[in-house]
Amino acid sequence: MSAPTADSLKGVDAHLTDILSVVGPLSPLDFTLLDAHGCVLAEDIVSTHPLPPFDNSAMDGYAVRASDIAAATAASPVVLPVVGDIAAGSVTPYTVQPGLCVRIMTGAPVPPGADAIVPLEWTDGGIAQVSIRQAAQPGAHIRTAGEDVPPGTTVLSAGTHLGAQQVGLLAAVGRERVSVRPRPRVVVLSTGSELVDPGQALTTGKIPDANSTLLTAAALEAGAIAFRVGIVPDDPRVLIDTLEDQLIRADLVVTSGGVSVGAYDVVKEALGRIGEVKFERVAMQPGMPQGFGLIGPDKTPFFGLPGNPVSAYVSFEVFVRPALRRMLGVEPLHRPTVRARLNAPVSSPSGKRTYARAWVAVEKGEYVVNPVGGSGSHLIASLAGSNALVVVPESTTTLETGAVVTTMLLERRQR
Ligand code: AMP
Ligand code: MG
Repeated sequence: MSAPTADSLKGVDAHLTDILSVVGPLSPLDFTLLDAHGCVLAEDIVSTHPLPPFDNSAMDGYAVRASDIAAATAASPVVLPVVGDIAAGSVTPYTVQPGLCVRIMTGAPVPPGADAIVPLEWTDGGIAQVSIRQAAQPGAHIRTAGEDVPPGTTVLSAGTHLGAQQVGLLAAVGRERVSVRPRPRVVVLSTGSELVDPGQALTTGKIPDANSTLLTAAALEAGAIAFRVGIVPDDPRVLIDTLEDQLIRADLVVTSGGVSVGAYDVVKEALGRIGEVKFERVAMQPGMPQGFGLIGPDKTPFFGLPGNPVSAYVSFEVFVRPALRRMLGVEPLHRPTVRARLNAPVSSPSGKRTYARAWVAVEKGEYVVNPVGGSGSHLIASLAGSNALVVVPESTTTLETGAVVTTMLLERRQR
């Protein structure tokens, strides 16, 4: 077979556009807050009660009438009888009458009659009576009802990506469940009769299946729920049966291997029978052969990625991860990029966009990027030493040392 010419290849952006034109956000579901963590809100959240719900003390100290201690100084403290104690969580049985005070803890409701809190530090800490060395303004150290969130406030809007701070707020306003876009469930399969599970004995011709672990972990890092189904031999019937079994729990399916032009490239052969999947040659390096389409009764998005681990991973980053983020409803879809100074040259075939494995670091306030490993798509060791991909445009064949280049950051983020 002759080598494909660049002009017979499909552009990376065109392929991504085709994918994103048929992949949409998942329908919302009600989740408890910790299940909703990492998902995108599908409703506006309006507070139904004030936050804080009642006036309460910001300090451990004494609830007083400010006018009773207006003259208090260190040289001439005011002494007040203490009529009781109020702990956080208790109901106030006291009204503070003129000339009296109540010992109060942080978060406890301010008793009627009192209009200021004197911090413990301004007093002798007395139990039966207290000596107060400093005057307090009315309102001092009182957290008023609704000062954080008045009732009827939209505290979070639909479309918000829920991190720890946001689910904390949902709990604070008393929500138990919220409507969010669920995490896509991703089924990951490796095809190849040469594959064995990691840990199994390697007989001649066999290799450990790296891709199903690699791609499942990448799907988890993209925010999905991912199922590593594992190895399927190069037998179209087994692949179809496995896919039909797995589709029930899949919002998206990823396979690796079997998409090029070899005699046993079963994915190409099998997928035509259960869906509409196109196998195309995309102008990128690594990752030229790509399968994408919709399969099964629910038209589940299917990605048939190439088998070399580096190709599979880069294809995941460039095509599958944006699709998963679209399903989650999160923006931006794409990995962040920075402009970084190249520490060694990178070459790229003409007419293809190269994604070169690299290590990026900040040196003296600027991004500096070192290519790692060679260009071989089987070089998984160098993939493991990378935290970035240098993007070489289609029209460029060489980037010289010192060039400032677009670099995709492969930041790790769980959930
Ligand atoms: P294929 O795309 O099936 O022709 O596979 C291309 C190359 O990637 C071959 O050398 C395969 O042995 C290798 N390969 C395929 N699948 C995996 C996998 N799951 N883990 C590691 N290497 C693989
Ligand atoms: Mg294969």
